[in-house]
Order: sequence, then structure tokens, then C-alpha cells
Amino acid sequence: MMPGEKSRIWHPFTQHALQGAMTKIVRGEGAYLYAADDRRIIDAIASWWVVTHGHCHPHIVGAIQKQAEQLNQIIFAGYTHEPAEEVAAQLLKLAPRGLDYVFFSDSGSTSVEVALKMALGYWHNIGEPRSRIVVMQHSYHGDTIGTMSVGARGVFNSAYEPLLFDVTSVPFPECGHEQETLDALEAACRNENPAAFIVEPLILGAGGMLMYPAWVLREMRRICQAWGVLFIADEVMTGWGRTGTLFACEQAEVSPDIACYSKGLTGGSLPLAVTLCRADIFDAHYSKDRTRTFFHSSSYTANPIACAAAKANLDLWQDQAIRNNIAGVAAMQEKGIARFRADARFRNVRRTGTITALDLEVADGGGYLASVGPKLQAFFSSRNLLLRPLGNTIYVMPPYCVTAADLNEIYTGISDAADVLA
Ligand SMILES: *Cc1c(COP(=O)(O)O)cnc(C)c1O
Repeated sequence: MMPGEKSRIWHPFTQHALQGAMTKIVRGEGAYLYAADDRRIIDAIASWWVVTHGHCHPHIVGAIQKQAEQLNQIIFAGYTHEPAEEVAAQLLKLAPRGLDYVFFSDSGSTSVEVALKMALGYWHNIGEPRSRIVVMQHSYHGDTIGTMSVGARGVFNSAYEPLLFDVTSVPFPECGHEQETLDALEAACRNENPAAFIVEPLILGAGGMLMYPAWVLREMRRICQAWGVLFIADEVMTGWGRTGTLFACEQAEVSPDIACYSKGLTGGSLPLAVTLCRADIFDAHYSKDRTRTFFHSSSYTANPIACAAAKANLDLWQDQAIRNNIAGVAAMQEKGIARFRADARFRNVRRTGTITALDLEVADGGGYLASVGPKLQAFFSSRNLLLRPLGNTIYVMPPYCVTAADLNEIYTGISDAADVLA
């Protein structure tokens, strides 16, 4: 682009009329991004929750390079390849027991679309058609029409509301009100004959980093099981160590019927997603009758280069030191957030695993469009911190190679922002 020329790129979740100049990033390494103007920026949100082991991790980069020279794309209907086979086999060993099949796609949203189609296909094919989906208040499952339908309604999707399908929503399990959630779920299961319940385990991400305890997750799973309602765990964000365990469901000893993983699946290097399911869901589609086929694909299903990156990520997770480091990051995060627990400028100071969040007290009550949001972001940017608050909710979700010094810089920035902006 020539100097002074206006970019014609339409960026995601960006109000171009308010957005200042875009920061151009030229290089990433570990927890750092390097801008074209030579600034070093700490990536405190893992580039939208995807980068787990750090930017340009050499083992993942090496696997990508090697695969790119060998086989970079192949139709995945009627053909298979070693990187996909290895990823599937390793995933099934790591994922909660009871998940038996792996379906590949290329984003978190598509992995959820696939989960919903699997659930409806299951009921359709066993001759007991069901289509109602039960969801949790404040949840986020993606930006496609189907995933918006099962996510929270609001400013993000009001223009598309006429196209969204109707769902049953149970309240978020606020501390002290968990039983209301469980009762609502049980009532929905009893009265509405739903096909499935979909939920983000332990942390609702885009809904505001809302956290709830493992026992609630376990109870919700138990209720679904008791009523024969498929339980879909959307671990697109919570997977890959974020909540302190490889998958959030582990903490509740929960085996979902269907699980969605993406974001950190390739360590944050390439787009790839998987939807895992129990054998009976696969079996309901297994037939000499071609009308029972699972009719879903994307052009780049199980792209070999993305699979090689995922395979390299899975290799890294075999390393005990990398697993142990999660507890180390969680401990550093606790240390970082602790100073705010008695700080009157903030509310709901919280942490689950490696993720911390806190809500800045603001006069206009907060929410995603709280006027303080863009101001916070600008302040953090001036401190060379990549933080992107959800309204007045500030959260820190770093790559696992973050250092105590980096975190100190991040939390000092958050404290200073509150001084300037609260
Ligand atoms: C990010 C996210 C998605 C959507 O993933 P994309 O790759 O952005 O399509 C779905 N579910 C959850 C819980 C997410 O955090």
C-alpha cells in the first residue's frame, strides 16, 4: 500500500468510523508482537485467545514448513492423510473418555455448526426427530447464523434476529443462584423434549469471562444424561490448558456427548477445528442408506498443513514440563490479580486457571458498549499492551510463555488505566 492510501479492508468487530490507525504487526515471537514502528507489544490476550505456546513456536513452525513441502491440500471425502489420522488418534487419547469420532472443520463457529447438525442428525436418523436447543444465558458460540442463534441475543446480532432460530435459555449460574440454573435446565429437559444442551464449560468467554464452578457443570451433565438430552461442550476457548486442565470438562469429570475444539488446537498458528462425538452419534449416521450420510464439509476440511500444526501442538502437550507450566502460569496469574481483590475500583475480581478477569467500576453501569471500553483499549495500546476489554470487563489470557515481568507490566497497566479512566 502506498503511503497515504486508504486501506479497503473491512476488519472484524471494528467500527471503522471510530477506529484510529491500525497497528501494523510485522513479527511475533513468544508472548511478544513487533510493530512496523519497532514497538514491542505484550500479547496479553493471546491474539484473541488462540496462541497457547507463544507466537511462532519453533516446533510448530517446523512442522508447518515440512508439511507444506509434502502435501498442502487434498479433498477429504474418500481420501485421508497421515497428519489428520495422527491428530484424530492423539485427540481421542487426550479428550474425555467416551468420545470416539473426530470430524474436522476450520473454525470454532463451524465446529459448533457441526455439533448442532450432528445432534439433529442423530435424532432424525433414529426416528425421534427433535430440534429444540437449550442454551445458557450470556453464552457465545460464534458469528454464523446458527451459532448466533444459540448464543446471547444483543447488539451483536439484533440486525439478524429475524433469521435466528428460537432456543430455550437457562440463566447463568450466578454465585449463590446455581440451583436456579439447574432447575431451569431440568424443566427444559422435561417439558421441551430438546435435542441438545450446548454450553461453554467453566467460563463464558465473549459473554464477559463469566466463571462458574465445576460442580455446576457436573450437575448440568447429569441432568442432560438423566433426560436423554445430548450434552455439547463448546471448548473452543476453554480447551488447551486455559482453565488449568487440558480441557475444562476434566475438572468436572464430565464426558460430553459432543465436544468442540479449535482456537489453541494448532497452538494458534493456523485455522483448524474439530468436533468430537460419541460412537452412537456416528452410528446413527452409519448405514447402507445414503440418505443417512452426514452432509457437511468445507473445502479445506482437515487441511494437511493445519493438521501438521495441530499434530505438533499435540506433541508439545505430551511433554510433562509443558503441562506443569500451566499450574505455574495459573499461580503467576493469581499473584497478578490478587492486588485487585480488595480494590474498590473493580468488581468481580476472578480467575479460573490461566484466565483472570475484573470489571472496572463505571458510572454508566458497564456492558459491552460501555464508553470506557475503547478508552481502555487506547490506553493499553499506549502502554504497548495488547488487551481488548469486553466493555468494562478487562481480562488477561496470555500465551503460556508469558513471564512474571510481563504480567507485572500488564497488571500495572490495568491499575494505571483505572486511575486515569475510572
Ligand atoms: C471463539 C469462540 C467460538 C468461535 O470460534 P471462531 O473460530 O471465531 O469461529 C465459538 N465458541 C466459543 C466458546 C468461542 O470462544
